[in-house]
Amino acid sequence: MRLPRRRFPPETWATTCALLQDETVYQHQEIIQQPCGKRLPILVNAVPLSSSHWHSMEPSEHHSLDQCEQECLALVIHQDVSALKQAESLKDEFIGIAAHELRTPLAILKTAVSSFIHQAVRGHGTLLEDWQLERLEDVEQATNRLTDLTKDLLDVTRLQSGRNVLQRAPTNIVALTRRVVERFARMTTRHHIELQTAQEALEVTINAKRIEQVLTNLFSNAIKYSPQRGSVIVRFAARPAENMLEIQVQDTGIGIPQQQQASIFGHFIRADNARAAGISGTGLGLYLCRMLVEQHGGRLWLTSEEGKGSAFFLTLPIGDVSQGENATAT
Ligand code: ADP
Repeated sequence: MRLPRRRFPPETWATTCALLQDETVYQHQEIIQQPCGKRLPILVNAVPLSSSHWHSMEPSEHHSLDQCEQECLALVIHQDVSALKQAESLKDEFIGIAAHELRTPLAILKTAVSSFIHQAVRGHGTLLEDWQLERLEDVEQATNRLTDLTKDLLDVTRLQSGRNVLQRAPTNIVALTRRVVERFARMTTRHHIELQTAQEALEVTINAKRIEQVLTNLFSNAIKYSPQRGSVIVRFAARPAENMLEIQVQDTGIGIPQQQQASIFGHFIRADNARAAGISGTGLGLYLCRMLVEQHGGRLWLTSEEGKGSAFFLTLPIGDVSQGENATAT
């Protein structure tokens, strides 16, 4: 897999995190650049050795207690995962090819079913019984779901391979968000969807299509995981110190169980309550959203309470952003 070239600040390194937070860091993915220029993917486990640990040792085991209390020590294990990454890249390539090949037959199926339904509803051609029309509508829905899934799979493999450069331009995020809000408001009568802002224009430097995709996914989830009814509120907040704009999408749905919140942005991860409620999904949407937001230099995170609702937050860069090496890829 070709990874975007980015120099991560020392405070994000596993060893520094372990020492600063005084917590063991497991399986942190990092990349080492060797003197010859070769990049080595590694997994890092870092265990901080606290001063209490040192106190429990015999004084002769180290130079002097005073010195050790001031020193930061950690046990760090680096594991070369090049072979694993290579296998992962082969798997991604296979998924990419399969998804790509599925697109054409799915498009043919979709067009054929839609035109049958269209004809039948208009009373053209052979008259269909109600049950036949219902079955055709089931096929249309299933085809749409498959088309969405192949699109997401293709997106994941493209984003991971870093093939396309993400083109960004100054964009009015208020107008873009309003468009998405209005689109969803037309699709549901059981949900109240509201954009809370007094501003008419806020400029961020983004790839508008990709951020619209992120917002669409967050809105679609907010509605899907509020199966009874509920409200979805969107707010903006400036973060001048970081030169970022924060967008919040809050819902009053089923929420995400506390113990699953940390892993929910992984691929194919779904919460138990969503499965138990019989709500269908693939667990790819949030993974894609986080990747897209991070490739803009922003962050995506959540707060949630099971049974009460969730709020998703994302930050996007304000002002001019260079399209250089750090501008990453889609
Ligand atoms: P999908 O919805 O297709 O399963 P996502 O990646 O978009 O995939 O979401 C991953 C999981 O996160 C969902 O399956 C669901 O368990 C949980 N989730 C996402 N958004 C919400 C939300 N607004 N409210 C409750 N649960 C959510």
